[in-house]
Amino acid sequence: MSQKILEYPMSTFPVINPATEQHLADVHDATSQDWMQALSDAVTAGQSWSQVTPRQRATVLNDIFAAVAEREDDFATTMTKEMGKPLREARGEVAYGNEYFRWFAEEAVRIDGRLAQSPAGVGTILVTHEPVGPVLAITPWNFPLAMATRKIAPALAAGCSIIVKPAQETPLTMVLLGEVIAEVLRKHNIDEKLVQVITTSHASDMSKELMADPRLRKVTFTGSTGVGRHLVRQSADNLQRTSMELGGNAPFVVAEDADLDLVLTCALQAKMRNGGEACIAANRFLVASSIEEEFTKRLTEHMEGVVMGDGMDDATTLGPIITKKQRDGIAELVDDAVSKGAQVLTGGTIPEGKGFFYPATVLTKLPKDARILSEEIFGPVATVTTFDSLDEGIAMANDTEFGLAAYGFSENIHTAQKLAKELKAGMVGINRGAISDPAAPFGGIKQSGFGREGGSEGIEEYLDIKYIALQ
Ligand code: NAD
Repeated sequence: MSQKILEYPMSTFPVINPATEQHLADVHDATSQDWMQALSDAVTAGQSWSQVTPRQRATVLNDIFAAVAEREDDFATTMTKEMGKPLREARGEVAYGNEYFRWFAEEAVRIDGRLAQSPAGVGTILVTHEPVGPVLAITPWNFPLAMATRKIAPALAAGCSIIVKPAQETPLTMVLLGEVIAEVLRKHNIDEKLVQVITTSHASDMSKELMADPRLRKVTFTGSTGVGRHLVRQSADNLQRTSMELGGNAPFVVAEDADLDLVLTCALQAKMRNGGEACIAANRFLVASSIEEEFTKRLTEHMEGVVMGDGMDDATTLGPIITKKQRDGIAELVDDAVSKGAQVLTGGTIPEGKGFFYPATVLTKLPKDARILSEEIFGPVATVTTFDSLDEGIAMANDTEFGLAAYGFSENIHTAQKLAKELKAGMVGINRGAISDPAAPFGGIKQSGFGREGGSEGIEEYLDIKYIALQ
């Protein structure tokens, strides 16, 4: 098949530290030749890998887990420098992201099938699974390691090769992971093209060309809903399978009888983890009116205790926002709400000086038409709105086009069950502020996408079903 080779003026692109605005590195800016070659190599590497026994695949995955753990410091430091999160949180992401290798090492040997009798007595039904084929993974900047390991680990466990395209803002963590994985593969005499990291500033061209090639069989994407829709449309011509982990607008519903100490701890986790730059971050605190005053007062005190600064400083609990553009977008959402009558209890102003910082902010008295209530904030801004009855609170929670995560708090078993049942999201935390777990299926409904990552469900995204009719 002949491919049009696109020409670009630059062969590298820069990576910037968002805390200092300093130049960190230049990385290779891949072009058409690079990614088309990567696909050919992925086809070859995948064919051999699909023949490797499940137990051997598990051994390789366990060795990757050990190799990443050994380099924890390097991964965490790289991530803090290119993405901004506090070093303690970066270490947390290395541990969490790496767990996917261990989890899917355990899943690799449990790819089961099914045997059934035909009710009409016309034979036996045998159901088996086969690797879907070469995978393209496209990942965002907010969790530079974990958003990719969730894809690489199940793809390898299933017997697939994978090409990973990290976000342009944070390629260094993935380049390091690519090196660590290649070393493990070499030790096992496995083609190191099984996992390839392609850094490029031409994401749109790359996805277009690769997806136009029928040899690519699967696209797994984490990022914004707009790009997700574009990729799904693009998958139509070759009917590639797709998994879409997209945006969120998580409600955090606090019933009248909730344990406020627990609520505050979880509110801080759900709002401030990763500086609010998380798809499952609490976007809207919806609080029973009888407890709103106390909740808001205590939340504001906690937010005032947040220490903003360079993630490399031990004292820092809130790093910078990834880019100036993203930071200014958060400021615009706050300013829009304030211009329509919202009240700022703390924060709300861009600080002077270097770095793309935005302070921990609490907003109340939000008008219904404030954009911040319907758009994903992706920053350290908490909005507090009240409800009079739980049904009203749940209706407000569900009044969004998104459906990724939702949180509900109550000490009453019936209320907790009602929240679990009626909150419309792919994931619901009940009296919990941190819900991600490699052993659980992560993913959304509605405009938050489809497909699941992690759990025993995660590997299914990389397997085709084959039905064999036996006499
Ligand atoms: P983004 O959609 O702008 O970019 C994500 C990735 O897609 C990047 O690698 C980017 O280079 C690439 N990309 C952009 N345009 C493309 C195109 N036309 N073709 C192919 N690739 C393209 O998102 P972002 O700003 O990096 O990340 C933030 C978004 O990600 C938020 O909406 C957030 O909710 C979402 N997110 C979702 C999850 C989840 O699991 N559901 C997890 C983390 C982040």
